[in-house]
Parts: sequence; C-alpha cells; structure tokens
Amino acid sequence: MSYGSALATSYSKPYWDGLVQGLIRIQRCIACGNCQDFPQGRCRHCLSENLAWIDASGSGTLLTFSSVHRAPSPEFSKYIPYIVGMVSLPEGIQLMSRILVEDESELVLDMPMSAKPIQWPDTAYVLGFEPKRKTS
Ligand SMILES: [Zn+2]
Repeated sequence: MSYGSALATSYSKPYWDGLVQGLIRIQRCIACGNCQDFPQGRCRHCLSENLAWIDASGSGTLLTFSSVHRAPSPEFSKYIPYIVGMVSLPEGIQLMSRILVEDESELVLDMPMSAKPIQWPDTAYVLGFEPKRKTS
C-alpha cells in the first residue's frame, strides 16, 4: 500500500494512514476538547500533551477555492488546471484540500462537501473533497 510515507512523522502518521483507509483523522485535545490540524505533540489551544485521534465526520462546507494553472513541480504538470480550496469541518477546523470537480463553475461558496481521499499524484494519498451529492 502506498501513501505519503515520506511526509509522515511520528505525530502525523495516523493522519496519513487514515487517508489510505478513506478517513480524515484529526487530533482532539482530551483536556479542552478542541480539535486541531496540523498534527503536533501539544494542543495549540491549551498546550496539553493529552491528545487523541478521532475520525472526522467527512462532511464540511466550502470556504474558498482557486484554480491552479501553473504546476508547482513537474510531477503536477499533467494535472493542471486543478482546484484547491479550504473546507470548514464541523469539528471546528479548516483544511486545505484538493477540490474534486472538473470545472470551478460547479462550485458555490458555503456548499456542503464530502471527503474523498485520493491518490495524487499517483502515489501519495491526499485529502480531497467533492460536492455533497443530494439524496432523493
Ligand atoms: Zn487543549
């Protein structure tokens, strides 16, 4: 199984392992109850080291987005243009993510989103969100 192991640290390994399983794992402080991103050894709110990993709901709302037209490195050239955005989670954090639509005209600010971790570019699992599909 391939994932962004080069990106994983002892603090962030549960996050990266979660993406491989289709989950968003985030740190929640046992002392104050706040969640945080990016993973680290202390709570950024109260400095407690008493942190636990929880599975986020996978839902969120789109705060903002932008199309990328210039590849940040050669590995990404075959993907441009692609869309990145900030998604607000009900757990109280905001995550930068790939936004999985073909065209930004499909996006509206504050629209409901669903998490969908993907392999990108081809080898590493990264966080992705797509518009939440309406159920009839
Ligand atoms: Zn705390």
